[in-house]
Amino acid sequence: MNLTELSKTKTIFSLEVFPPKKTSPNSTVLDTISKFKAVNPDFISVTLGAGGSNHFEGTIEVADIIQNQLGIEAVAHVPGLYQSKQDVLKLLDKLNSINVENVLALRGDHIPERKPVGDFNHANELVEFIKENRPEFDVTGACYPNCHQDSKDFIDDIANLKRKVECGADHLITQLFFDNNAFYDFYEKTRIAGINVPIEAGIMPCTNKNQIDRITAITGVPVPRKFRAILDRYADNKEAMRDAGIAFAVDQIIDLVSQGVDGIHLYTMNRADIACRIYEDTKSVFKAAEVK
Ligand code: FAD
Repeated sequence: MNLTELSKTKTIFSLEVFPPKKTSPNSTVLDTISKFKAVNPDFISVTLGAGGSNHFEGTIEVADIIQNQLGIEAVAHVPGLYQSKQDVLKLLDKLNSINVENVLALRGDHIPERKPVGDFNHANELVEFIKENRPEFDVTGACYPNCHQDSKDFIDDIANLKRKVECGADHLITQLFFDNNAFYDFYEKTRIAGINVPIEAGIMPCTNKNQIDRITAITGVPVPRKFRAILDRYADNKEAMRDAGIAFAVDQIIDLVSQGVDGIHLYTMNRADIACRIYEDTKSVFKAAEVK
């Protein structure tokens, strides 16, 4: 079932994984990804090209395992900046051949020393291209409760997001955020602007300080006082930091689901143990949300 149909039926619980290193043997890849079946996700998305590469074999391999061996809906990420139209068509045809019908169309991050190909300078161009050339795909886009770093303001960011939806994005997933109020304000802005597709909230359980420093530096996402205090107090205590990071994410999720969010997308960093704990602590909340 594609994501658009799925989101009409329930509060979605989905995961993001990344392809293991190119050198990992197939059995390790299967082992890593299989562990996520225990959390019963509605779909699992697979990143592509962090760092701007267009080696999509790893993404295809993992999407194939998810879709055809685990029997879970797979979503392949497709960043456009460093891909030509031909590359994208090749990737889509490959995904078609393994029955993957959902893609997350992205611009990708600029890499200072690399020149973009020039076929897709913004995600909306890629969304439009996919819808025109391979309309059988359900296309998701990214969005930013704390505003994208490149935007001059929220008005600019929401106008660009609206264009992306008008070009064919059927579903949106947010960048991670730590303050639910930022999500609620953002959601309201999208509805005022006439953006009416489902928006899943992206939650990252942050269980070590280095990870959060790196991610907030890349994304510019602010760290609220409540979470900063956890980092300051527990950064050097591995166990306490893990427990506090998980509890913080669980708290965010329970609040969002109670307020009727369309779905939760968990950035797992390939940590099935953490995803399992979050699932155990929230599964009754998701189940109760289905009883409308
Ligand atoms: P866009 O929608 O193009 O937006 C980027 C900026 O340009 C924004 O400021 C926007 O307001 C502005 N803009 C948009 N359209 C226009 C236009 N037509 N004209 C002028 N300005 C415009 N990166 C990867 O490389 N691989 C991944 O697998 C990956 N997965 C991700 C998953 C999620 C859920 C998210 C939120 C991000 C992911 N990223 C990934 C990172 C993403 O590539 C970056 O956040 C990137 O900086 C922006 O991508 P976008 O698709 O939102 O771009």
